[in-house]
Amino acid sequence: MPDAAIELVDVNKWYGTFHVLKDINLTINSGEKVVICGPSGSGKSTVVRCINQLEKHQKGTIRIDGTELSDNAQSVATIRSEVGMVFQQFNLFPHLTVLENLTLGPIKARGLSKKEAEEKARHYLERVHIPDQADKRPIQLSGGQQQRVAIARSLCMEPRVLLFDEPTSALDPEMISEVLDVMVELAQEGMTMVVVTHEMGFARKVADNMVFMDAGEIVEQGKPEHFFTNPRSERCQKFLSQIL
Ligand code: ADP
Ligand code: MG
Repeated sequence: MPDAAIELVDVNKWYGTFHVLKDINLTINSGEKVVICGPSGSGKSTVVRCINQLEKHQKGTIRIDGTELSDNAQSVATIRSEVGMVFQQFNLFPHLTVLENLTLGPIKARGLSKKEAEEKARHYLERVHIPDQADKRPIQLSGGQQQRVAIARSLCMEPRVLLFDEPTSALDPEMISEVLDVMVELAQEGMTMVVVTHEMGFARKVADNMVFMDAGEIVEQGKPEHFFTNPRSERCQKFLSQIL
């Protein structure tokens, strides 16, 4: 058995009195790709934000590479350095160039020299197929290009795991595939990935495990070949019939 890169055991979370995550159990082995889908408000973003410690869970256990998440500042720093995140809204710094967006983290958080950080940044811009955009500001790029910059920025931190929260939902339709293509390449290169998306073509291509959430619960999970052809729960059947 490969090592579990991420393990959630009976994870529960409340926003005030609102029980947003209910007994979430999920194991993501090193190199695996998990796709999470489900209706709006079902708790998908909250799950990935808990894995990245942007949110705290109140009950249950989350482990990343065997390290249990806790309030301890060291554990927060360790996890943050191992887990990269790509958001729906790109979250690039508008006043910085693409290259500066990419080098900021490695210089500030990793202690790389400017030259080392720039070499790394250019390497990953190459990987996401926009080596010629380094000196532009985000606003001068298309949405698809901005999202690929955001992916390259995550990769510059050399994460062990990449989380994606609806990375193509803010994009015009014609730009979705250029981002998904980059994500498929990452998947094929062995990156451990947790992807919240409704792009089921992508899911069929890369997912090792499909997770369907509704009302704060994992209602169903399994291999894509079973998940898509034979969903057991009515809620999952209904959801898939609406989006496929
Ligand atoms: P999804 O990503 O599946 O759309 P979210 O995880 O964003 O779902 O949200 C799950 C539920 O929690 C929703 O009902 C949402 O309104 C609520 N919620 C999300 N963030 C907060 C917050 N910071 N405070 C209170 N409620 C929140
Ligand atoms: Mg969400």
